[in-house]
Amino acid sequence: MAVLVLKPGREKSVLRHHPWIYSGAVAALRGTVQPGETVEVVSSQGEFLAKAAYSPMSQIVARVWTWDKEEVVGPEFLYRKLARSFETRTFIFPEIGCNGALRLVHAESDGLPGIIVDRYADILVVQFLSAGAEFWREILLDLLTKLTGISIVYERSDVDVRRLEGLSEKTGVLRGVEPPEKILIEENGLLLYVDVRNGHKTGYYLDQRRNRVRVREYSKGRDVLDCFCYTGGFSINAINGGAKSVLAVDSSVDALERARENLNLNQQADSVKISWHEGDVFLVLRNLRDRDASFDMIVLDPPKFAPTISHVERAARGYKDINLLAFKLLRPGGLLVTFSCSGGVSEELFQKIVAGAALDAGVHAQILERLGQSPDHPVALNFPEGTYLKGLVLMADSEQLR
Ligand code: SAH
Repeated sequence: MAVLVLKPGREKSVLRHHPWIYSGAVAALRGTVQPGETVEVVSSQGEFLAKAAYSPMSQIVARVWTWDKEEVVGPEFLYRKLARSFETRTFIFPEIGCNGALRLVHAESDGLPGIIVDRYADILVVQFLSAGAEFWREILLDLLTKLTGISIVYERSDVDVRRLEGLSEKTGVLRGVEPPEKILIEENGLLLYVDVRNGHKTGYYLDQRRNRVRVREYSKGRDVLDCFCYTGGFSINAINGGAKSVLAVDSSVDALERARENLNLNQQADSVKISWHEGDVFLVLRNLRDRDASFDMIVLDPPKFAPTISHVERAARGYKDINLLAFKLLRPGGLLVTFSCSGGVSEELFQKIVAGAALDAGVHAQILERLGQSPDHPVALNFPEGTYLKGLVLMADSEQLR
């Protein structure tokens, strides 16, 4: 096995079981190795540190599979890791049925760097995001079908991070037949169609599962504004929770079309008023403000404004803008449920941005709850980078500052 020798002092993060080794930490590579193959990582003193997948094109030049010298990285190892991930899910969501949808493997945080596996009813959708994941793809696919008993596996590796690993984007059927355009799933007792071929990410935002329930629980009797509604996850939950009205906004006509269909799958009370509005949230919020509209609850779930630290400043302006406008549209005592899924924006920074927005809007607010990604998107304790979704449930004071 080829050996990756680290520079003096650079073994610290590996010893703390952080899974990433940056190219700047490497002193030398001894031996030859193909992209994705396993290398042994040693300190400058030659002490064993880890076994990792080598990725010569990436700034993250190796991703750790194991810190155990005796471990052999191969099919048996991957089998155990996958089985362990699945066991965790059975523990988290014991009630999941045959229409269930959840993340089965969450990459680094499940000890499987670069590997994402989502289940939508009887279909698996995978993303292979690193050279190591790519190297083991056929073995992983065999193991996945064997362990889950699911025969259809679809790939959605159309993600730009693959380029950083020197890999091109890939989509398509990997096992079994072409999945149907509409896969019926059940989430928290509600039904939804998911399109794994054309939908965002692997088809749906599974990470918001628990937060949709929170929105449902807060909705009773409220006029709700759902910004960036996609296929209607929060809106349909709001209606299910007894919202008086829902205005749902998204810029994607296709997403809104799906949202309408999803509502029809669940509609119970026709007295509820819901309107699906196609538009740019930044403009729609301004229009609503100019018309003196107001709401009892506003959900802001924008797309990733800052994939990495380098986009943080622009992202901060985006978050500030929509949150400020939302505070202006919020009735006294109203709720703002606001999210950021930008890995580059920390929880602390997000709170600061939202606090600045409230101040500028003349609204005093309290944090009722902090929300995060659902537990099928766990975060390994030594891998804080695994945290990306942050949310705040805020209540505006009934007495305003202005
Ligand atoms: N809340 C959704 C997920 C939102 S994903 C859920 O729970 O499933 C982000 C959504 O924002 C996408 O549907 C995308 O089409 C939409 N979007 C992106 N930029 C937008 C903009 N400027 N105005 C309105 N919608 C936008």
